[in-house]
Amino acid sequence: MNPKSLAEKLIATRALETEQYAALIDGRDEIRELLQNEAVRLRTQIYGKAVFIRGLIEISSFCKNDCLYCGIRRSNKNCERYRLTPQQILDCAEEGYRLGFRTFVLQGGEDGYFTDERTGWLIQKIKAAHPDCAVTLSLGERGYESYKKLKEAGADRYLLRHETAEPAHYKMLHPPDMSYENRMECLQSLRELGYQVGCGFMVGSPYQTSAFLARDLKFIESFRPDMCGIGPFIPHRDTPFAGFPAGEAELCCFLLSVIRIIHPPVLLPATTALGTIHPRGRELGLEAGANVVMPNLSPVDVRKKYELYDNKICTGEESAQCVGCLDARVRSVGYEIVSDRGDIRKESV
Ligand code: SAH
Repeated sequence: MNPKSLAEKLIATRALETEQYAALIDGRDEIRELLQNEAVRLRTQIYGKAVFIRGLIEISSFCKNDCLYCGIRRSNKNCERYRLTPQQILDCAEEGYRLGFRTFVLQGGEDGYFTDERTGWLIQKIKAAHPDCAVTLSLGERGYESYKKLKEAGADRYLLRHETAEPAHYKMLHPPDMSYENRMECLQSLRELGYQVGCGFMVGSPYQTSAFLARDLKFIESFRPDMCGIGPFIPHRDTPFAGFPAGEAELCCFLLSVIRIIHPPVLLPATTALGTIHPRGRELGLEAGANVVMPNLSPVDVRKKYELYDNKICTGEESAQCVGCLDARVRSVGYEIVSDRGDIRKESV
């Protein structure tokens, strides 16, 4: 099938064979607009012009893992480590609430300090102070029992990018003590426990091929995540992948459109990484079908230390400035930031 027929099949059935996804990606130049229009049509039908905001609180740069792409990997001796105090985290949420946020994302490296007890206590505190808000966790791989305790403490959602749905590729991006199987098992546990679950992957990560990306799309087709975070890979100078090129905004936006069509209600962020590799990256993401942005609520003095990749944007601004800037950017492409929990709308389209 030629790219045009594949695109039409995708629009009609919201699914393709794995090999067909690869051919779609390779032939994307001639079908980009077609898929983008369909993605925007679906996003508007379900979410109107609304863009949901998530307040990102980067709670710790300590990490026990050694992912080859990540700037806060354990082996990076140049990474300045920090850990927010409980009070700092609660203050960030407080400030975020005042600014209109109704979702807080606690993200960090895999830091043993954040035990189930400490993390659970924090979740309870935030939920008690703001019962109308959702708490999202992005704290990496933990056991079933741990995820269960955090859910019972009040966590609503969990973001755990699968990173790549091709096991051979997973091995190329991670040290031997991490496994594709465990990552996938974590996602299954989170789903089983009733979290709204987010998966995702980097675009243009080292050794990635269209065939690997096709597997990511096939995975999304079957897993049907509530959220899907995709952003370009960006090299970090102190990692083994320092010499690899960054992913492309164009491919990232194309994939956002495809994912919107595969699973129309999915919550799709226009990521900070996309905004880092292109001056209008987040706007392009919204125009491709994204409907979420995740401004940084972390204290300004730690933002530069949570450096997953080089040249990360928004590391010098106060939270309020970030919101103001994003609001203008979102408006510039005809959308509107809303103060809402921003849960997935599962109605069929
Ligand atoms: N420790 C948590 C949070 C990880 S940081 C976890 O394991 O889920 C969030 C995401 O940033 C990662 O899942 C990864 O996809 C992305 N990331 C890490 N390094 C990156 C890089 N160099 N370029 C782009 N994205 C990166």
